[in-house]
Amino acid sequence: QKAIAVMTSGGDAPGMNSNVRAIVRSAIFKGCRAFVVMEGYEGLVRGGPEYIKEFHWEDVRGWSAEGGTNIGTARCMEFKKREGRLLGAQHLIEAGVDALIVCGGDGSLTGADLFRSEWPSLIEELLKTDRISKEQYERMKHLNICGTVGSIDNDMSTTDATIGAYSALDRICKAIDYVEATANSHSRAFVVEVMGRNCGWLALLAGIATSADYIFIPEKPATSSEWQDQMCDIVSKHRSRGKRTTIVVVAEGAIAADLTPISPSDVHKVLVDRLGLDTRITTLGHVQRGGTAVAYDRILATLQGLEAVNAVLESTPDTPSPLIAVNENKIVRKPLMESVKLTKAVAEAIQAKDFKRAMSLRDTEFIE
Ligand code: ADP
Repeated sequence: QKAIAVMTSGGDAPGMNSNVRAIVRSAIFKGCRAFVVMEGYEGLVRGGPEYIKEFHWEDVRGWSAEGGTNIGTARCMEFKKREGRLLGAQHLIEAGVDALIVCGGDGSLTGADLFRSEWPSLIEELLKTDRISKEQYERMKHLNICGTVGSIDNDMSTTDATIGAYSALDRICKAIDYVEATANSHSRAFVVEVMGRNCGWLALLAGIATSADYIFIPEKPATSSEWQDQMCDIVSKHRSRGKRTTIVVVAEGAIAADLTPISPSDVHKVLVDRLGLDTRITTLGHVQRGGTAVAYDRILATLQGLEAVNAVLESTPDTPSPLIAVNENKIVRKPLMESVKLTKAVAEAIQAKDFKRAMSLRDTEFIE
């Protein structure tokens, strides 16, 4: 009987609980034992029944409607070192787990792929140092790893949507609607900073959905005189036509053409100094990750959880670790390491000001 474990790692995202629920129940439905690793890689490094727990059908009851991740997530420095991964391997083997599904962002999935590629040498060392038996060694020669992408940023290449992104987008739009009401009353301008790290997806889509006056995203930097002139022209035009509100959305990773960050206070200063607008800054912060998942994320996470279990059951030592993606509404498998490499290449291309390459790598001509 196979034993499949799931963990959530990196930044939390709404919908992770639906993913865990689907993985636990699909595993049990397919005749496997299901485990959860608490607190991400931290739980692997610490090990024992407190951190690597067997889960039953009822243990995930009602989880689809709950935000965050009930099995905890953490950032774990020890797992970045070989000694931490060695402990992780030992603890998985002690728990009798033979497949691991990681729901997280690119960092977590890089860790997962490294863990799998190192696995033969890790278990060799565990055997040599008598930390596992010959029997355990023979049984666990191969570790199945699979990734599902949980991230509010929607920053992973090769998938159209990450679990949590649409929930965060929905929350941002609602918050901007609230701000819009008070802006209208006082005829004010609001500069709204939204999350997304070096990806502008949340800012761009929230800006479009709320018909913001101006949007800053890392993928489209401008020189300061370019953006200042353009933003002031647009805002003045809207105001001259009777608009009482001004909403400017700034992605947290927004940058100018010289790659220096554009902060909400830079934008605030221009709106005040050049247009004389009564301007406030609103930083949405962690509200964006909180609350329950929208229906789309629950469904995406459920379908991807089922597919992740299928993928680990079908995987062989020769197949690369899969990442469960969604492409044009179909749940598909992609090579995990390729997807992570592409995602990192996008970030590097943005840093190198090669935006054309960044866009083509990210697979979205939409922004252009
Ligand atoms: P995210 O998964 O959201 O991108 P992080 O980048 O913080 O979040 O990664 C989460 C955790 O994954 C880290 O705390 C670490 O334990 C593990 N991890 C990240 N990168 C690596 C790596 N290169 N090697 C091993 N583990 C890693």
